[in-house]
Amino acid sequence: MSLMGEKTGECVVCCNRCGGFLMESAITTSYMVCPECGNRVVVCVKNGRVSVFDDTRSEEELAEKRHARLTGYAAKFKKLIK
Ligand SMILES: [Zn+2]
Repeated sequence: MSLMGEKTGECVVCCNRCGGFLMESAITTSYMVCPECGNRVVVCVKNGRVSVFDDTRSEEELAEKRHARLTGYAAKFKKLIK
């Protein structure tokens, strides 16, 4: 499920599909695309443990989230202007 190497106390985050190198160490949960196989992955950090999952969200879902975020910002700005 998660591939994690420990080198001199640092975690190396690898792709859960091809094992390709993703990043030196994860600090916060983040979404990224594997440079090796193009797999969308979620790097999840919980209680100092790093797990890598498939990002199973669909393109439409991502677009929706993006849209929702933009709408949220717009609402915030409107409040600020008032
Ligand atoms: Zn990969």
